[in-house]
Amino acid sequence: MDKTERYNRQVILPEIGAEGQKKLAAARVLVIGAGGLGCPVLQYLAAAGVGTLGIVDHDTIDISNLQRQVLYDTADQGKQKAVAAREKIQRLNPDIVIHTHAEKLTENNILGLFSGYDIIVDSTDNFATKYLINDAAVKTAKPVVYGAIQGFEGQISVFDSTRGPCYRCLYPQPPQEAVASCAENGVIGALAGIAGTVQAMEAIKLIVDHQLFQSLVGKLWMIDTRMMETRILNIARQKECPVCSKPPVEIALQNYSPVCSATMVTEIDCKDVTPDDAVIIDVRELPEWGEGHIDGAHHVPLTVLQKNINVFTQPGDGKICVLYCQKGGRSRKAAEQLLNAGFKNVYSLRGGFEAWKNTRSRG
Ligand SMILES: [Zn+2]
Repeated sequence: MDKTERYNRQVILPEIGAEGQKKLAAARVLVIGAGGLGCPVLQYLAAAGVGTLGIVDHDTIDISNLQRQVLYDTADQGKQKAVAAREKIQRLNPDIVIHTHAEKLTENNILGLFSGYDIIVDSTDNFATKYLINDAAVKTAKPVVYGAIQGFEGQISVFDSTRGPCYRCLYPQPPQEAVASCAENGVIGALAGIAGTVQAMEAIKLIVDHQLFQSLVGKLWMIDTRMMETRILNIARQKECPVCSKPPVEIALQNYSPVCSATMVTEIDCKDVTPDDAVIIDVRELPEWGEGHIDGAHHVPLTVLQKNINVFTQPGDGKICVLYCQKGGRSRKAAEQLLNAGFKNVYSLRGGFEAWKNTRSRG
């Protein structure tokens, strides 16, 4: 009835056009998590005319959700999120098909759920589910639009193992220990809106696939809304990745115990470190430092840092801090400690001093 009029403002864009709109109508997107990120994802995908949407969420609406989960209102308390979300977005766009999956995602049901969809949007809030989604997506060769938020900071990427790295290339293993439960994690609602909307944009770009679009495959887009600083980190595919280096049949799905919040150390590749933008810190011991180090680096051994974290000062001027050791193990530990203590923009140099020497000697 009003189908052409409904999408007019996007169909007149040359990058979308009638052809892009047809692709949107034919697309099947599974949104996992109908919370802070999932609400804007669902709203914008439904509004844009994505033909089939799946909503996975087994949770019910609590009053403390309403600060960021803007699809729901006060009267929705106690309702299932998947069901309430469907009601709202179906009203927004009656022409699309919406499936609700009000069940907990497990290693047993995930492949069945994935089979009905072409694109997966990870709007979950815990690491255990993120690893499960990643591993199943690599196994089934489906792209994942990944989002994560905490406090004032967000991260978005597109993991598509057919042409780029996966989540485990970035974070190989779940964090060792839980720091706090999800419920105790602070987050500002507007950030969920920003990050979820970026996820919706990335999903639309994947679907329409116009030649002028560049997705976040191989890139981690990060935002710190306190300063409105954004950064894009290149993520390389890791040859020794525990998942995407394997043939699909050998990828075993497993449920991890839920770890809601822990500090995830981001590794940075040597080629992405520009000494002007980074404070570089060597965390090895004195004899190792004496045998050679990165020009311009500061020396703060891990053993010293462990005794007194205050020997570290946060770099100013928007600079990042890159820690390194010999191979990358100790600097990860040091970075974790600093991040846990509340320091920002701390990275660990992938492969350590050895990788640095190799890259630089190759020119
Ligand atoms: Zn991988």
